Amino acid sequence: MRTEALIIAGAGITGLSAAWYLRHWNPLVLEASGQPGGNVRSLEKGGFLSDLGPNSLLLRGHQVPELISELGLGPELCEANPVARRRYVLNRRREMVALGPGALLGGRLLSLQARLRLLGEPFRSPSGPEESISSFVNRRLGPEILHWIVSPFVSGVFAGDPDRLSVSAALPRLTAMEQESGSLIRAALHRRRGNGHAGRSRLVSFRHGMQTLPERLASTLGDRLLLNSPVESLQREGNLWKIRSGNQTLQAEKLLLALPAPVLAALLRPLHTGIAETLDEIFYPAVATIGLGFPRQQVEHSMDGFGVLIPRVLGIQTLGALFSSTLFPDRAPTGHVLLTAFLGGAQNDIRGGEETGMVRQVLEDLRPILRIQGDPEYAHAQLWSQAIPQYEIGHQKRLEQVNRFLETLPNLSLMGNWRGGVAVGDCIAQAGELARAPAWQNPGTGENFRETTVPPR
Ligand SMILES: Cc1cc2nc3c(=O)[nH]c(=O)nc-3n(C[C@H](O)[C@H](O)[C@H](O)COP(=O)(O)OP(=O)(O)OC[C@H]3O[C@@H](n4cnc5c(N)ncnc54)[C@H](O)[C@@H]3O)c2cc1C
Repeated sequence: MRTEALIIAGAGITGLSAAWYLRHWNPLVLEASGQPGGNVRSLEKGGFLSDLGPNSLLLRGHQVPELISELGLGPELCEANPVARRRYVLNRRREMVALGPGALLGGRLLSLQARLRLLGEPFRSPSGPEESISSFVNRRLGPEILHWIVSPFVSGVFAGDPDRLSVSAALPRLTAMEQESGSLIRAALHRRRGNGHAGRSRLVSFRHGMQTLPERLASTLGDRLLLNSPVESLQREGNLWKIRSGNQTLQAEKLLLALPAPVLAALLRPLHTGIAETLDEIFYPAVATIGLGFPRQQVEHSMDGFGVLIPRVLGIQTLGALFSSTLFPDRAPTGHVLLTAFLGGAQNDIRGGEETGMVRQVLEDLRPILRIQGDPEYAHAQLWSQAIPQYEIGHQKRLEQVNRFLETLPNLSLMGNWRGGVAVGDCIAQAGELARAPAWQNPGTGENFRETTVPPR
């Protein structure tokens, strides 16, 4: 049996980025499905280019831009249309209102009472123990801001329930702002003055969709990426990890599992029931992405923005829709538009939903909002039955427990979007951070280890 220096399980964006940053270890990557990328997936059909998972990547800081450039993907990158800064939300009359200072101060989204309440925000006392997003926002900004602004935003990012999500785990920037300045409004003004242009983030994708990034990462692995190779069981034997995958058994000095929490729980249960129970507590709701393509004249709304968020209090099933063909170029044939709508999430169980029903539902919901005539020329629904991990109350404690348990399992690392942030950029950052740790500087010496021509980072 061959001994590898490092085996990575999971070729989602986390596992692939880890393999890239740890390339001086010449890792072997095992992926359960027939293609790399996990939920980063794009579909080109009938001239429409749909992203079935993440639709964009937010570039902040240096790490992800450096990765894109090291991979030679600069020419593939496309910047979001500047109009994408305009983000719509529905108000109680189901009209689209552009979010921004105008929406906060004008009367189309918030009542006079809610706007006056904002003036008192700088004088409210900071939080005590861990709070839900609802409790935090209610306390600082009031219930209308929660229902009409924050809750739709939480649906857009986590497909989550603000009553259950922990503000410090899911939106750490908010709690940091409160701690730093004692007020969200004061902190926002400070940051705006302090940052100038230097701290600006950029919203990007690739000419052929988000899948370009995992595909390029996967191509650097060559035959060191094994597709259709699920890790089925793990065992510790002497100083090595023994991994069963299909009809083969592999050995590794180090094992890095970049997998969803429920998969980790099942694999680790025979080794440590405590870690399995903790990981099993992380809830993943189902989310569906529905791409709809129309001839331009069938959609009366100008689609001049990022998209529209739909507050849960309106009782509409669709969480929101992105104006994909406005956001990035070449997403639809000339004279056509592409929308990407979302269903499901923590407040609306859609497991078991089928494609026709989901397409019908979003059409019914979006028709009056965007004034859509007729049927779409292109429609595709992708159901992710375990879509996005929810950083609920107690999440931080769960992660601490996992770290403590890991101390008893040598040469094992666990990664994934259930820790360190759910955005693609967070997953890449997590992999980069791991690779910078001292334990990963000097590669192991598994029999299959060979010096790579790429210099260690
Ligand atoms: C609908 C949707 C929209 C999103 N939109 C955005 C967005 O616009 N911007 C953004 O930044 N983020 C977005 N995200 C979040 C982001 O896409 C994910 O958090 C990120 O891609 C997760 O990457 P991962 O590698 O941690 O996990 P995954 O993508 O889940 O990858 C895990 C991999 O492990 C494999 N695997 C599972 N079991 C095994 C096993 N036993 N052995 C081997 N392999 C196994 C899986 O097949 C998969 O390839 C979105 C997510 C979803 C679902």
